[in-house]
Amino acid sequence: MKGPLIMTPGPTYVDEEVRAALAKPITNPDIDSDFYEYYQNTCSKLQKLMNTENQVLILSGEGILGLEAACASLIEPGDKVLCIDNGIFGNGFGDFAKIYGAEVSYFKADYRKAINLQELEEFLENNHDFKVATLVHCETPSGITNPVDKLCLLLKKHRIITVVDSVSAIGGERLETDKWGMDIVLGGSQKCLSAPPGLTFLSISQAAWEVILNRKAPIASFYCNLANWKDWYEKQWFPYTQPISDIYGLRVAVERWLEENNPIDRHAKLANAVRESLVSGGLELYPLDGFSNTVTTINIPKGVSYQDIYDQMLKDHNIMITGAFGFLKDKVIRIGHMGENCHEEKLYLTLKALDLTLRSLGVELKGELDKLFISAIKG
Ligand SMILES: *Cc1c(COP(=O)(O)O)cnc(C)c1O
Repeated sequence: MKGPLIMTPGPTYVDEEVRAALAKPITNPDIDSDFYEYYQNTCSKLQKLMNTENQVLILSGEGILGLEAACASLIEPGDKVLCIDNGIFGNGFGDFAKIYGAEVSYFKADYRKAINLQELEEFLENNHDFKVATLVHCETPSGITNPVDKLCLLLKKHRIITVVDSVSAIGGERLETDKWGMDIVLGGSQKCLSAPPGLTFLSISQAAWEVILNRKAPIASFYCNLANWKDWYEKQWFPYTQPISDIYGLRVAVERWLEENNPIDRHAKLANAVRESLVSGGLELYPLDGFSNTVTTINIPKGVSYQDIYDQMLKDHNIMITGAFGFLKDKVIRIGHMGENCHEEKLYLTLKALDLTLRSLGVELKGELDKLFISAIKG
């Protein structure tokens, strides 16, 4: 059976080469020194992808694990944490910080816009007594990319440790971890890198390591304790048995990304054409600015429901798109253009199917979405 084309903002399509790597024979990753080298080399490739010299680790668990591990390892009870919040993931980050005892303050911004640098700057003038700040690179449910380059440099000026959830941006948006002074940056396997869900990876700066290793209160977790990973290579010891097959898959996915000539440009160009076609067709984007290059969110036209669009796209066209959750439930639909899904043919098929679906549900469009897409690409 041929499965649907999954045009969701993660998980994304997994290429045959990656799937073949998942099926490779395994060794015992706890004791085979070759595997320690392999893990280390895979982390080096991720360093290249993230533009960092900071240590990178791959953890056995989906993206949320990275987020929780950063909070568990950095935060001590009573620590002041600034949660930069312009969406569902941004806001939720504060909840993870609270689990580990943080006293959380929110910098709450417009949920339809990217974080405004100047507004944050003004806020920080009188409130900068924070140990850690949490940020989201791409707010996946709303399709908004935040200017983490400028935001992190600003927070750094106030000596605040930054933790950036870049799960849905890494590989699809520009990322200069070191140049932008980012302390912890985390990503997941199943978004723009197009490996199966199950792994998180993160980079940890020297400043973040110092906080992690010099805390007073013990870290209230084992699985989320990054300190357990210090010197894993020198000691030839992993805190737990590594998911070797998943790492084989991720490795190939990262190599595919590194071998491509400018995947970031591909995302920018196609995302732009997707947005242009939808707007020219008379649909409304949810974001007012900060348009993401990895996911596009549109308001559901009046008179139709998310469920009808989803069902018809899947039943008649074998294409899976998604809505969102929380306050955006039943209000928007989202098209993912991440990693292996960010290709002209797949987006053409998706827009053609969406065009037919919306028309059959009674929505009047100002042009054919697929044709508008092609003319937007041609410019
Ligand atoms: C996908 C994603 C995660 C991981 O969350 P899941 O809902 O478990 O997939 C974390 N942060 C962001 C911004 C994401 O897009």
